[in-house]
Amino acid sequence: MTRDTADDGDGGDANGTTEPSGGRGGGRGRAGCGNCGCGEPSPGVPEAGRDEQPSIFVPDEGEVPDDGAGAAADPAGAAERAATDGGVESASGGSDSTELDPDAYDPVDVFPGGDLDLREGADSCYKCTSCDTSCPVAEVDDEFPGPKFQGPEQWRLKRKDDHDIDESITSCSNCMRCDDACPSGVPLSQMHNEARGQFVERQMEKLSMEYIRNRILANYRTSASLASMFPRTASFAMNFGPARWAMEKVMGIPKERDFPEFATETFREWWKARGGAQVENPDKRVAYFHGCYSNYNTPEVGKAMVRVYEHFGYEVMVPPQKCSGTPMFANGMLKDARRHAETNVENLVEAIGEGADVIASCTSCSMSLRQEYPELFDLHGIEDLAEHTFEALEYLRIHEDLEGELDAAGGLDDERAFAYHAPCHARNQGLSRQAVETFRDVDGVRMEDVGDSCSGISGTYGWKEEKYEKSMEIGAEMFEHMEDAEGEVGMTECPTCAMQMEHGTGYEIEHPLQLLEDALGA
Ligand code: SF4
Ligand code: SF4
Repeated sequence: MTRDTADDGDGGDANGTTEPSGGRGGGRGRAGCGNCGCGEPSPGVPEAGRDEQPSIFVPDEGEVPDDGAGAAADPAGAAERAATDGGVESASGGSDSTELDPDAYDPVDVFPGGDLDLREGADSCYKCTSCDTSCPVAEVDDEFPGPKFQGPEQWRLKRKDDHDIDESITSCSNCMRCDDACPSGVPLSQMHNEARGQFVERQMEKLSMEYIRNRILANYRTSASLASMFPRTASFAMNFGPARWAMEKVMGIPKERDFPEFATETFREWWKARGGAQVENPDKRVAYFHGCYSNYNTPEVGKAMVRVYEHFGYEVMVPPQKCSGTPMFANGMLKDARRHAETNVENLVEAIGEGADVIASCTSCSMSLRQEYPELFDLHGIEDLAEHTFEALEYLRIHEDLEGELDAAGGLDDERAFAYHAPCHARNQGLSRQAVETFRDVDGVRMEDVGDSCSGISGTYGWKEEKYEKSMEIGAEMFEHMEDAEGEVGMTECPTCAMQMEHGTGYEIEHPLQLLEDALGA
C-alpha cells in the first residue's frame, strides 16, 4: 500500500458558497449561539474563555537580540526574583504588599516592529495568587515559582531591563488552568508561551540533549508520519525494552511510558479509500481538523466523527493540515508552530470560504486554533478561523437536537459505565461538563465525572524523564477517582490525557464521539 503521509488528502469537492451556519460572535473560546449570531451562549452550552487579549508577532531571527546562548537561568532563585522596579515588591510564590504603580516604569518595546505589549495584562494582576493555587505543577514541584511569577512578574518587571527569562518557564506544562483561575483576565498562558519561546530561542543550548529531545517530542507529527510507514515494526521497536532503556539514558524519555501503537491504516488513508465525503450538502459543511493523533494512532475517533456528522446530514471536508502546534507551544518551539500554523490557517480559511465551520475532535487542537493562534501569530484569516472553530461535540450541541436524537435512537443495547475526565484544555473552553451532560439521560450509559484534577501528562510534559514522577503525582487524584468510579472504561476528549488515564489505571479509554456513534447507531 502506498502511504499517504503528506497530509494532502481529499479536501472535499463541493463548491457551495452558503454562509457558515454557526459562529461564536467573535469571543475567543466562547460557545456562542449558533442560531442567530448574537454571540450569546447557547442553551446548555457553558460560556467559556477569557477576555480578548492583544495578538502578537513571533519575532524572527532578525528581530531577536543575541543575548548569548547558555545564559539561561537566574541562579539565585526565588529570593533574587524579588522585583524592585516600579514601586513593586514581589517575590515568587510569596505575598506582595506594595501596590502596583502603573506610571512608575518606562515603556518597554518588547518586540521592535511588533504590536505586542503584554504589560497591560500584567498590570491587571492584583496578586491574589489564585493562579498559583490552581497550578498543578506548583503543587508538586517546590522549585516551580508558579504562574504569577512566570506571567505578570516576568513580563512587567524582568522585561524592563532586558533580563533573561527564568529557566523555570520550561517547567510550566501549558495546562492553562491558571487562565481559568485568574479573576482579572491576565493573559497568563499567552505570557508563558511567549516567555518560553524567548527562552528556547535565545537562551537554550541548541546542541543539548534536552533541546533535541524536546524538539523531537514537539514535532510528533514528523516521527509519527515516518513510523506509520511501518506501523507494526515501529509499534514493536518503540516499546522494545532495550530501546526504551537507551531512550531514557540518552534522551531522557522515561522507560515507564508506553508508546502508543500506530494504526495500520491512517485516518487519511481510510478517508481516501472510502472516496471522501458520502454526504453532499452545501448548507451544512464542516472541515475536520483531525490532528496528528487521530490520524496516526486512533483513526477510529476520526471515523466516528465522520459517521456521526454524516448521520446529521453534514458534508465533511478533510483539508490538508499539519500539527495544531500544541506540543510546540508547550516546548517553546514557536517557529515550528508558526510554520505548521501557516498551512493550517491557509487551508482551513479556504474551507470556511466554502461555507464550512472547523471541527476538531481533540480539545487541545481546538484550543490551539481558537485561542493560541490569534494570541501568538498574525496570519491572514486567523481571527476568522478562531471564530469558526469548534470542538466536535460542542458544535453538535449548539446546532443539533442531540438530546432528541439520542432519545429517538433508544440508547445502548448493553449497559456500559464510563469514568469521564475533562481535559484541562476542555475546561479552558468551557466544555468541562459536555460529555456528562450529553450522555446522562441515554439509556444504557452510566457516566461519572471523576473530578476536576489535571491528568498530569499535559502533552509532552509527562514524556520527560525529569518530569515523569511529578506527572504521576499530579495524576494521582484522577487515577484514584477513576478507580472509585463505577465504570472501568475511561472517557476523555484529549489523546494524551487518554494515555495518562490508561497508564495510571490500565483502563481502556474511549472518546465521546465513539460512544455517540454507538448510541446513535451511526
Ligand atoms: S499553564 Fe498550568 S503548569 Fe503552567 S503555570 Fe499555568 S497552571 Fe501552572
Ligand atoms: S490570578 Fe490573575 S490577578 Fe491573581 S495573581 Fe494570578 S495573574 Fe494576578
